[in-house]
Amino acid sequence: MSKSPDSESQLERMEKIVSLAKRRGFIFQSSEIYGGIGGFWDYGPLGAELKRNLRDTWWRTMTRDREDVVGLDATIIMHPAIWKASGHVDTFADLMRECTITNKRVRADHVEPQSGSVIKFIGAKSPNANGGWSIDRVFTVLMKQGEHIESFRKRVRLLLTQNAGIAAGKPDEIELLGEERIDVVTDSVDFHPETGGLLNEARPFNLMLKTYIGPTATENDIAYLRPETAQAIFAQFKNVCDSSRVKVPFGIGQIGKAFRNEVTPKNFTFRSREFEQMELEFFIKPDEAVQLIHGSVAIWSEGADLSEPQPNWGWEMWHRYWVAERTAYYAGIGLSSEVLDYTWQTKADLAHYARACVDILFKFPFGTEELEGIAARGSFDLTQHQTHSGKQLEYFDEELKAACDKLTAEQKSTFIAEAYAKRFNPDTTLEETMAFCEKLFKGLYIPHVIEPSAGLDRLALAILANSFEEEVVTDEKGKSEMRTVLHFHPRIAPIKVGIFPLLKNKPELVAKAREIVSLLRPHMAVFYDETGAIGRRYRRQDEAGTPFGVTIDFDTLGEEKPEFKNTVTLRERDSMQQRRIPIAELLPFLLSQIL
Ligand code: ATP
Repeated sequence: MSKSPDSESQLERMEKIVSLAKRRGFIFQSSEIYGGIGGFWDYGPLGAELKRNLRDTWWRTMTRDREDVVGLDATIIMHPAIWKASGHVDTFADLMRECTITNKRVRADHVEPQSGSVIKFIGAKSPNANGGWSIDRVFTVLMKQGEHIESFRKRVRLLLTQNAGIAAGKPDEIELLGEERIDVVTDSVDFHPETGGLLNEARPFNLMLKTYIGPTATENDIAYLRPETAQAIFAQFKNVCDSSRVKVPFGIGQIGKAFRNEVTPKNFTFRSREFEQMELEFFIKPDEAVQLIHGSVAIWSEGADLSEPQPNWGWEMWHRYWVAERTAYYAGIGLSSEVLDYTWQTKADLAHYARACVDILFKFPFGTEELEGIAARGSFDLTQHQTHSGKQLEYFDEELKAACDKLTAEQKSTFIAEAYAKRFNPDTTLEETMAFCEKLFKGLYIPHVIEPSAGLDRLALAILANSFEEEVVTDEKGKSEMRTVLHFHPRIAPIKVGIFPLLKNKPELVAKAREIVSLLRPHMAVFYDETGAIGRRYRRQDEAGTPFGVTIDFDTLGEEKPEFKNTVTLRERDSMQQRRIPIAELLPFLLSQIL
């Protein structure tokens, strides 16, 4: 959901970012030499490094640095029954409408209201095209308010010729037949936003990409490219529990490709058909189990301390905790709170099983849009998979069992009555509550889950947009020029340091520079550049977002000033400040900045 309207300067900024992304090898259109393919993007040398660094920061923060999260790397194609159980086969669909002239599709909720005259034609013909051509079907187009009749007709001719299969011949040769104004409409959502053609009724369009497994390609062989990575985590929940020494609360994280047949891929990589997700499923005890173990459940209130998870936290604390953790993650890679926003779904917007859902939004040049969703999904997913697979996915909680063993029959009855009174879903029956509590008394439950789900490509785009700056800089001689710079946080910058011998035709300088490259390369991405004036070389690295530059000059050799021997100039990208630093201090300094 976009929160702010496009402004011209923001769109211009976006164009500059797209152009820089291509020019400097961050992002290319997929299959560009064949005209491209909508909704697919390739990452060039710098983009591949940027994405890898982002992926690594997520993986490190969410799994390796934590004791309570483990990782998973599952396949893209899984048993189709998974998508039936998850609801994707039946409900993962957008309502679509088709232009009745061109068959171009548009999401029903993306049709902007339009006003104008509705013009009907009974056909069209083109006498000169290969011995004559005609269509004799009625078609209807909106002539937009303010559109001149001649330019409208020209547009319709173009529409017919540009869409293969509708018309042959040149637009000018086409004669439109039986033109008639049949209506005047105001704020109508019945015409295609691009073509102006009348739209048909809305129909659901499933977003999953299909493929066939095996050679026969029948209905029985259909499989799907996963539209999200999360379901594999649920499907492997039991294996992870049985094979690792994890105890609820714990999480399983996964990074990987996801595919959605988006109807209108747009805003560069923002809405792609192939993209990468970084998802965590964090499994927690149901609040009732927390209550039985600890005698009470910590509930969130404004100002609650979220810094350290506590054993008595209920789902709401965990949900808030993950919102705070993810916000801190973004701050750590340069996306501060000023460029983020949050949308909390209202009760009415939430899926029936979800308890809360917040979207973390980034202020993109084209609007404030979702970067990540963090949902408290109850026990819905594991329950669905338990039902559909027929396999037990309940978790045995020793602590819970020990706590319940101490309860009297009377205490258990009181607990059931209270659990029924506080039930989340009003449709839950007393029998269901009793069955759930009886399981709890045996130490068994289906864990609830908090799901922070982020898009890697959207994050890379947000990072590019956030880092991009054009600034006028003036040198010592008073000469001004435009500097394009990407202010990447050193942690995620594709190249960490540029190494520049002052002159390329001085073997001693080149040898020293090469020595420094060998010193640093095992620890970080370095770029060696010896061509062009030093200022130009700095600018090239500014555009690539390289945070540091190291110049090896005659002082480094210590021929005239022995006190500078084995020192280099270190230039900092953002401030453009330069200082001398001993070569021996380079590696520790740079490591302190990039880790
Ligand atoms: P949207 O409303 O923008 O379509 P969504 O709510 O369907 O997104 P989720 O299903 O919650 O998205 O997916 C989690 C994350 O995956 C999103 O926050 C986003 O970062 C990323 N993502 C989803 N769809 C796409 C896409 N088509 N292209 C790139 N990233 C995507």
